[in-house]
Amino acid sequence: MPDIAFWNKCNNKCVMCTNAPEFAAQDPAQYGLKRQVEKLERYLKGLGPIYLKNADKADFISLTGGEPTLHPDFFRLLVYFRKRLPGINITLLSNGRRFADKNFTRRLLKAAKSPFTAAVAVHGASARVHDKVAGVKGAFKETIKGLKNLSDGFERQAGQLEIRIVLHRLNVGELEKILEFLLKRFPVVARYRVVVMHYEIEGMSFENHDRLALSLSESANAINAAGPLIKRFPDLRLYHFPLCLVGRELRSRCWITLPPEDRVYSEKCAKCRAGKKCLGLMLEYYRKFGDGELKLL
Ligand code: SF4
Repeated sequence: MPDIAFWNKCNNKCVMCTNAPEFAAQDPAQYGLKRQVEKLERYLKGLGPIYLKNADKADFISLTGGEPTLHPDFFRLLVYFRKRLPGINITLLSNGRRFADKNFTRRLLKAAKSPFTAAVAVHGASARVHDKVAGVKGAFKETIKGLKNLSDGFERQAGQLEIRIVLHRLNVGELEKILEFLLKRFPVVARYRVVVMHYEIEGMSFENHDRLALSLSESANAINAAGPLIKRFPDLRLYHFPLCLVGRELRSRCWITLPPEDRVYSEKCAKCRAGKKCLGLMLEYYRKFGDGELKLL
């Protein structure tokens, strides 16, 4: 199942957002209840192409935005998607701010039903860093409160909480602090998953690249240095990293989540033993940074 743009407006202005400004400027009516239902029904009947990203994946669906929880018919649509896609894992990608409202979280847990994952991004260990990346003062406070409500809710009801950390120039030095913060604020680590990923160069992150530019080597160095902390999380996954830059003991945590058309194996990779176990390089990254830093296995 594909990535589905649930709603095109957002209440954050994340500096590394992969959406282009034109997306938010679109008429939101095309993401309204009626249009979303039409699109899903057409997709289920095979009358594609309806969704562009990950359209060939059959076992999961990602609801993206914008911020999906701002959709005026959020709960009605969620109930509808759940009903039409029984057994399919629905992942809701969110900035988590609306879950600061306990009542909103309660309604989500009632509507979502397993298998369901709420994936929320944390950009820093403090309001200073997180809010700078999110572009909104007060975002950190709401996101962390939202995470607490979700975490408490998933304790009582099946469902998975995922905390995402997207690394770029503005927060790479913060990785260990974020992990320490999570251990302190959310000490029951079995209750959630952490995903640490290198930023994707697309949309706003492409536009803001002068501020964000970070090589995979630098990012991987931060991850390798955080190894002892990473090991304290039973389910911590690393996305978008070439295996040859990641320390041996962390390689089993590397996942390939990008489709083949968004990745590239360079000439260097042809001489490497990793083969298809490694994602190679993100295509846009390769265009900007080349493959000089790859070490091969
Ligand atoms: S050289 Fe290429 S295939 Fe080998 S580990 Fe590095 S990125 Fe992966």
